Amino acid sequence: MTVSASLPLLAGQGLPQFEAITPEQVQQGIPALLDALNSELTALETKLEQRLAEATPLAWDELMDPLHHLGERLRWSWGVVSHLNGVCNTPELRTAHQQQQGAVVQFGNRAGQSRPIYRALEALQQNAANLDGTQRRILEAELRDMRLRGVGLEGAEQEAFNAASARQAELATTFSNHVLDATNGWSLTLTSETDLAGLPASLRELLAQAARDAGESGWRLGLDMPRVVPFLKYSQRRDLREQVYRAQVSRASTGELDNHPLIEQILQLKLEQAQRLGYANWAEVSLASKMAGSVAEVEALLDDLRAAAYPAAQQELEALAACAARHGADEAAALKPWDVSYWAEVLRQESFDLDSEALRPWFSLEQVLQGLFGLCQRLFDIRIVAADGEAPIWHSDVRYFRVLDGASGQALAGFYLDPYSRPGSKRGGAWMDECLGRSRTHAGEAVLPVAYLICNQSPPVGDTPSLMTFDEVETLFHEFGHGLQHMLTTVERPQAAGINNVEWDAVELPSQFMENWCYDRATLMGMARHWQTGEPLPESDYQKLLAARTFMGGSATLRQVHFALTDLRLHSQWTPACGQSPEQLRRDLARTTTVLEPIPEDAFLCAFSHIFAGGYSAGYYSYKWAEVLSADAFSAFEEVGLEQEEEIVATGRRFRDTVLSLGGSLPPAEVFEAFRGRQPSSEALIRHSGLVAA
Ligand SMILES: [Zn+2]
Repeated sequence: MTVSASLPLLAGQGLPQFEAITPEQVQQGIPALLDALNSELTALETKLEQRLAEATPLAWDELMDPLHHLGERLRWSWGVVSHLNGVCNTPELRTAHQQQQGAVVQFGNRAGQSRPIYRALEALQQNAANLDGTQRRILEAELRDMRLRGVGLEGAEQEAFNAASARQAELATTFSNHVLDATNGWSLTLTSETDLAGLPASLRELLAQAARDAGESGWRLGLDMPRVVPFLKYSQRRDLREQVYRAQVSRASTGELDNHPLIEQILQLKLEQAQRLGYANWAEVSLASKMAGSVAEVEALLDDLRAAAYPAAQQELEALAACAARHGADEAAALKPWDVSYWAEVLRQESFDLDSEALRPWFSLEQVLQGLFGLCQRLFDIRIVAADGEAPIWHSDVRYFRVLDGASGQALAGFYLDPYSRPGSKRGGAWMDECLGRSRTHAGEAVLPVAYLICNQSPPVGDTPSLMTFDEVETLFHEFGHGLQHMLTTVERPQAAGINNVEWDAVELPSQFMENWCYDRATLMGMARHWQTGEPLPESDYQKLLAARTFMGGSATLRQVHFALTDLRLHSQWTPACGQSPEQLRRDLARTTTVLEPIPEDAFLCAFSHIFAGGYSAGYYSYKWAEVLSADAFSAFEEVGLEQEEEIVATGRRFRDTVLSLGGSLPPAEVFEAFRGRQPSSEALIRHSGLVAA
């Protein structure tokens, strides 16, 4: 045994000994691990080349098993480093993470672009008749991903492809730097109390702090979301709202930071890359690895949503104008984009003043967990039991739970819950991640899946337990949905177990599905008890939560449709020779996908980082696609009647046996159909969004 093999960081199996893993180990262990993996990869490549030369059929366990074990060893060790970097960051750990990250990415690129492995995968596919359906699907995904990285190209074509990929990465970085610089480069300092009319105390304090940080007195506005969003919502000064709005929508559209030329270059490069790979356009490349089968299928879905949302959005705008008129506002006759958030907030307060802070006492973490676990027991026949002290942890806040099958009592999985925010050492937001995946050891022993569930809610203070907002409750249910798919998988092949090998536009199905239960009367009223008095949530508050869910639902849906269609058309129809600029294409679409025409300086595309600098190009539609699936899945429970216990239980078991069990072993459309008995329909999402004409 070498020195490094005894490091807890390189154990490579079982639950990590979190507290024994130090930044020094990362600096020492990761290079040692990568050295070992690189030699093993070289050895595997050599062996595969020999095997290919022999021209006898290649077996799965000669290629896929060693490949998986290489990847899994890196995932296990680097997964722990990334996890600790997210949940108990220190300057030393951050440095170690940063210093090793490049080499880790490099190893992934080397394996992902290896010609011998690619040729071996092709050889394996020629004998696919010997493989089962899951194996074939794993193999196809592996080959597809390698082809999309250009591995199948030869000579000059491959060089051109790689050069264009590098150029794309540069352009994406420049694009997002422009957005960042344009956002940070604008400010407006307010100097008198009258400029602050309508602003809540928290926003005033934020603006005052920004002014102090800049060495100014007064209140400093900027274009970052935490300042712009509440300002447009609360400011009674229409002139200031207009000024801020105009600055916000024209970011990165002029001068040195102008993103217009970059947009055309990025789109053209993507089109050329798609053609090199044998596709007609970039949208086809994106859809090659997704559940959606074609551009036409996505367009049809977006058009269903558009048709339902457009009239609703028009009515919502009229309701805002009527509200402004009741208040005698000048703008009532012609609302402008900078008036919408403001009057929506006024109308919301008048219709149902939901104070999210005031609901916290009804949602103590303990009560919410009991509600969530009880729901899972009822629907999926699993029992969740606390197992604190049975697993190593990384912080005293962290709890560990075991998941047992309800009928047999057999252990199925485990999960960590790290619920509270720790400013300074824990990343914000909430997420589910894989600690261990379901698999078998060399000796054939079953390895049970273990999930990380990370939230960021307020910790308990004194005798007061952690009290959650309703948003935080929804977030916990959401992440737990991802966790359930990871933990309840029955797939034996690790490459397709849990969330592995699930198409990107289908992976939010279980998570968003779970969110729906937060609005189910029995579930919500069962868990919402005042932590001191035990009183249930007042009916009027329940009604407010329901109303808040659909308030301005038409406008919100239409906005997402506008973004998604713009993204899709730019990547499927736009070419440099089409006679239209990307901006003109977007404005054409705006005629049917916005109810307030974009103002002349609105250059939304110049800040659309999701598609020009992130991974969402020709994939923005996925948000709505997954919502259709999750709403439609929930509607199976509505159809049998949410009060019909026997039917609910049977439907819940079916959900567990299909969506939660089958993971990436089957195409997602087949998994969905196995649960729902038919293909997905947008009806439920349209209804849940409040877009059905009364
Ligand atoms: Zn999610």
